[in-house]
This record gives sequence, structure tokens and C-alpha cells, in this order.
Amino acid sequence: MAALKKFLDFIFPRHCIVCGKENPRGGFDYLCGECAGGSFIAQVPRCKRCAEIAPVSAFGCAKCEGEELYFDEAMVVCEYAQAGRELVLELKYRGGTYVAKDMARFVSKVKNAKDFFRGAILVPAPLHPSRLRKRGYNQSEVFCKGIAKMHAALDLKVENLLIRKRPTTTQTALTKKDRILNVRGAFEVSKKLKNKIDKGAKIVVVDDVMTSGATLNECARTLKKCGFKNVRAFAFARRS
Ligand SMILES: [Zn+2]
Ligand SMILES: [Zn+2]
Repeated sequence: MAALKKFLDFIFPRHCIVCGKENPRGGFDYLCGECAGGSFIAQVPRCKRCAEIAPVSAFGCAKCEGEELYFDEAMVVCEYAQAGRELVLELKYRGGTYVAKDMARFVSKVKNAKDFFRGAILVPAPLHPSRLRKRGYNQSEVFCKGIAKMHAALDLKVENLLIRKRPTTTQTALTKKDRILNVRGAFEVSKKLKNKIDKGAKIVVVDDVMTSGATLNECARTLKKCGFKNVRAFAFARRS
């Protein structure tokens, strides 16, 4: 196996997506040890309710106080910076589905990730069919499959339980209030799967990036409205 890997690296060299180093070693396929260990992945205390950086890791913080959040808990892997940002851009805009495994490997770095995920149904934040056709894949679904595959012991399933019925303009330039309005009513629960999944099942809605949390919150609201009781939010990177 090691010999085959060496041979493949010789024929098809891998490169660190951040610095370009050839055939990086150290546990990641497309990141060298140095780029994989940047400050973006520093495990700082985060609010268990909204996943923002907080003075202590408790349920609720100053940033989410008074906010109506429909997910019961939230978790992110890293900051949207350095390799954390490059992985998302590679996956989302450069056709780099091959980085999903590396993104999934980072999940083990997060404290309590095992308990957060164990036995869950992973539900990708959905893309509108027109966007899906253009990109050819839903990056969040690819990330979900990476997590399920790389953490087989956690007994995870991936189900496209949510559907995006309305295309939304990109959220990047919007204020927090406009983001909430922009995604309001954009999703529905799949009629095909609705009654096949137990309403008490642990559901984790997964997105690549969490900024205001509006998308994940609307996903959770849609699921709760349909009767799902146990809904969590997870994103690879958090833009603070
Ligand atoms: Zn590198
Ligand atoms: Zn909070």
C-alpha cells in the first residue's frame, strides 16, 4: 500500500493547495503539515449554541443572546482563514471535491465532535437545482459524505432531506437582517423522505461556511416546523 502510494505520488504528484508543496506528508492529502497547522484550526472556546468564539465554551453567549435559533446546538471546525478558507474555495469554486476527505479529517480536532455526531443523519444545506446543475455537485453534500466515510465508527448517514425551492442571491454582500429575509422560506422538506425518517432522529444540518448562521437557522426552522425534534447545525468554517 505504501509502495503503491509512493508510485502514484510519482506519477500524479499531489500539491498542498495553500503553498504548492509537492506530495505533502503528515496526515493530509492536499495540505502540508505547516499549512494544516495554522492558527485557523486553533481550538478556541466557542459558544455551543451559535458556534461563535466566546470567552468560555458554554451554551449561549453575548452574540446570540436574544436571537431566535432553531438548531439545538452548533459546532464548527475552524475559522474561515488560511487553509480553512482555501479548502472551502477549492471545494466550492474550483471543482476540488478531492479536498472533502481532508476537511473531514479536521473534524477529529474538534473537542466533543464524536458526541455531537454519533449516530446522526447528516443533511446537506441544499443548493437550488439551477446552481446544482451549474456546479455539478453540492459541496455540502460532498463534505457530508467525506465525514461519513472518514468517521465510519460514528455510524453516520447522509440524506438530502432538505430541498431549496427558491434560488437566493449570494449572501456575501448582505447585512445580517437581509440575510435572514433572503433565505426565509427558501427550503422545504423532501416529500419523499419526510415520512421515512424518524422525527426524533438526531439530524445535523451541514454547510461549508457559517457566516450569520441565517442559512443553517432557516434549514433548522424548516425541519422543526415539519416535526423533527433534534436538529443541530454544523459548518466547516465560521466567518467571525
Ligand atoms: Zn503548504
Ligand atoms: Zn452564542
